[in-house]
Amino acid sequence: MIDTLLIDFDGVLTDGIKSIDHTGRTMFKHTNSKDTRAIREIIAHGIRVIIVTADKSEINKTYAEKVGAELIVERDKSKLPFETFGTFWAVGDDAWDLVMLEKAQKAFVPKEFDRSLKKIMFLNVLETMPGKGVIAELIWQIDFESQKPKRKDHLILERR
Ligand SMILES: [Mg+2]
Repeated sequence: MIDTLLIDFDGVLTDGIKSIDHTGRTMFKHTNSKDTRAIREIIAHGIRVIIVTADKSEINKTYAEKVGAELIVERDKSKLPFETFGTFWAVGDDAWDLVMLEKAQKAFVPKEFDRSLKKIMFLNVLETMPGKGVIAELIWQIDFESQKPKRKDHLILERR
């Protein structure tokens, strides 16, 4: 059973590619509708999903709101309030995610990830490339049968 799933945004939910304009502002990021669906399903089963990112841009905020996830903007991910997450899993792709992944009960990386993360014991390397449905693959590892009662406000979404 897990209480919380922490998801790094760039390089997990996106392919890592940012389209920037002449001022350096990020205009577009590519996410995958398979992950949107998977995140909503995880939340519907009563699990907290928190997107953790160093990027203050509105894009990440809007995405989190759209899928119903929480958002933590924090450059130093070793400073996250880990004690408040209960039993948590984490998925990340880069060196910044090391501490978060080490503290997680189960740590995941997409198929393409920074080699510095290889030192993590029991690292679960998924088969999916960043931005191509990483959470849609991970969701199969969650045993929903053992989860707490589902959130009532999400029941309608679930019946679809
Ligand atoms: Mg990343």
